[in-house]
Amino acid sequence: MQREIVIASGKGGTGKTFLSSNLAYYISKIVGRPCIGVDADAEAPDLALALGDYVNIYSREEVYESRKATIDYEKCNLCMMCYTVCRFYAITLQEDKPTIIEEYCEGCGACGIVCPTQAISYRTVRTGFIIHGRTRHDVDVVTADLEVSGRNTGHLVYLAREKAKQIGREYIIIDAAPGIGCPVISSIVGANLLVICVEPTPQSFNGCCRLINVAETIKIPYRIIINKYDLNREFAEKIEKELGNNVIGRIPYSRDIVKSYADLTPLLATSSPLKKDVEHIMEEIVRVCS
Ligand code: SF4
Ligand code: SF4
Repeated sequence: MQREIVIASGKGGTGKTFLSSNLAYYISKIVGRPCIGVDADAEAPDLALALGDYVNIYSREEVYESRKATIDYEKCNLCMMCYTVCRFYAITLQEDKPTIIEEYCEGCGACGIVCPTQAISYRTVRTGFIIHGRTRHDVDVVTADLEVSGRNTGHLVYLAREKAKQIGREYIIIDAAPGIGCPVISSIVGANLLVICVEPTPQSFNGCCRLINVAETIKIPYRIIINKYDLNREFAEKIEKELGNNVIGRIPYSRDIVKSYADLTPLLATSSPLKKDVEHIMEEIVRVCS
């Protein structure tokens, strides 16, 4: 049976890639179960880097799932209906002609529907890549890597998860994008457990509550880990009070963590005194997911 565990946070920079890389390392190298990481933060993927970077790439597949509108000016009668209908500000007027700004075009098709002369067509463009490889710390990672100015991250994340499922490991650890947008929903739907990483700040707690709302709406079990709790103990206690037993771990701010991250090495692969505490948290995540 495959188990998917998603690590997410309501805002960026809270430490979810730290947790994801250490959880993948813990399951693969310490527990010794088949495990693969999925980097679902397609706009800024760095899970493979946190595990020492790829040393062997097994596959690098291009994904063509996006499209951009183009205008045939021979057919265009300058009625401007396309300009009026575009909700993404992807059509501007230049020298009284409608002009597509490709970077903004979502390929939604609305302009083509309203165009009375069939002057608008669509060309398929690259959305990004799905990369599968082995990292220096001997953990496999599938990365969703979005093309520069690319769109459709939700679909790219879906494809990365599907790739990991096909590879067939028992545990799939998904490092989600920050926030509650499309790629995050695509990371969480159907998963066995959502682990929310939160810092003791009002901004991070607000993001955490939004993620809890998502988890409860789509009925995914969730647990909370408070990272850097000692930077504001009072606020950390407030979070624990409000979220009760769902809080399953607290991690202090530590230079060891910063150093391990900068060294592209999971903390659990170092001799840090913090290792035991982090290992216990990983153990608890796996237990909750069993
Ligand atoms: S396809 Fe959609 S986003 Fe792109 S230009 Fe047309 S209306 Fe705008
Ligand atoms: S809707 Fe069609 S005909 Fe009208 S301005 Fe746009 S491209 Fe030209």
